[in-house]
Amino acid sequence: MINIPKGTKDVLPAQSYKWQFVEDCARRVARQFNIREVRTPVFEHTELFARGVGDTTDIVNKEMYTFVDKGGRSVTLKPEGTAGVARMFIENGLASSPLPMKSFYIAPCYRYERPQAGRLREFHQFGVEVYGSPAPAADAEVIFAASSFLKELGINDTRLELNSIGCKTCRASYNAALKEYFRPHIGEMCATCRERFDKNPLRMLDCKEDGCKKIAAGAPKILDYLCPDCASHFESVKNLLAAQGIEFVVNPNIVRGLDYYTRTVFEFVSTSIGAQGTVCAGGRYDGLIAELGGPQTPAVGFAAGLERLILLMENTSVPFPAAPVPDIYIAGMDDESRAKAFALAGQLRSQDVSAECDLMERSVKAQLKYADKLGATFVAVIGENELKEGAVNVKKMADGSSQNVPFDGLCNYIKTQGGNFNG
Ligand code: ATP
Ligand code: MG
Repeated sequence: MINIPKGTKDVLPAQSYKWQFVEDCARRVARQFNIREVRTPVFEHTELFARGVGDTTDIVNKEMYTFVDKGGRSVTLKPEGTAGVARMFIENGLASSPLPMKSFYIAPCYRYERPQAGRLREFHQFGVEVYGSPAPAADAEVIFAASSFLKELGINDTRLELNSIGCKTCRASYNAALKEYFRPHIGEMCATCRERFDKNPLRMLDCKEDGCKKIAAGAPKILDYLCPDCASHFESVKNLLAAQGIEFVVNPNIVRGLDYYTRTVFEFVSTSIGAQGTVCAGGRYDGLIAELGGPQTPAVGFAAGLERLILLMENTSVPFPAAPVPDIYIAGMDDESRAKAFALAGQLRSQDVSAECDLMERSVKAQLKYADKLGATFVAVIGENELKEGAVNVKKMADGSSQNVPFDGLCNYIKTQGGNFNG
């Protein structure tokens, strides 16, 4: 027996409708905001993530699935979606297409993490990327899209936490203040933080070690160091959100797990799924595209973890729509009627009715038992008489009522009397 790799999950036939619902909601919201889908490879050159995501991040330091392919190139399974989309934007010269470019993806990501509830090695993200606009309205629209997605799913218990981490200018004076604050404590901090102290002190605020967290709690706040431009950008974003009726709290401790963020950062956090409560996170990354060799292009986006969202919905009893059932099960008594059932099912399917018939050569009794387990909306049994009359008794399982319907009227009967065509 070969088992599934650690930190990965199967989606079983009885569960896939939940995934389809979440993905449908994502696509619907994307459509409402006129955000178009993009697809990029599952693997990219390792260098893209090292440069794009940033080499002081957990992702690049210890979580990447990196291997050398048979051609001797170092490639990496994408740990997040943004770097690939940014590469696509640059490589295809999309800076000269009409801007902003608004795109989304639904894609798997790979990170070598310690698996636990809500933390997997293969997981999936719905992500949105808006390239080309420096305006606060773009930040607000992206946050609005994320909020609409959660609402569409029926999730009401998340809190939107918002912060600004400034630009290069304000970050310089803030980093200096951070260093001054952390310097006397550096001996008590973890090895990673000691490394971050030199490379990127901002990331010390994101350490998960208890000791480091305690020290970081007293650190100076970035909001006190914003330059006038960043401060006014942040004010505008807050005002736009308030005008849309989107509630948020300002949390000056959010820095996010990626190096490329500038100005706005945000997280939608739930208190219902334990430690891994961030279901959606994002922000602005005005420096990323230039960093990757493209033209200076402001950008803002988010990514939502689909496994965490489904977990949250299950834990808080947010209802999923009912799992799909076949519209009709057509049973056959003998070989000839079985063949007729098979043919009728075929005709119905070609008219977009979901029809089932026996593939197991079961007795009629066993066929009906199976139809019941499937939850078929209608059941019909074909035998010698039905073949002779060219009609069959169709039973509506919900109320036990039934009606004799000619074979060529089956499709119309199902579409008007029930099945998936009612709702
Ligand atoms: P965390 O602090 O939880 O590690 P992160 O900062 O690494 O999160 P991002 O890179 O911003 O997360 O990813 C966006 C979203 O993707 C997260 O908010 C979460 O919902 C989801 N996500 C991230 N890592 C995982 C994982 N290993 N398993 C499942 N979902 C994940
Ligand atoms: Mg992480």
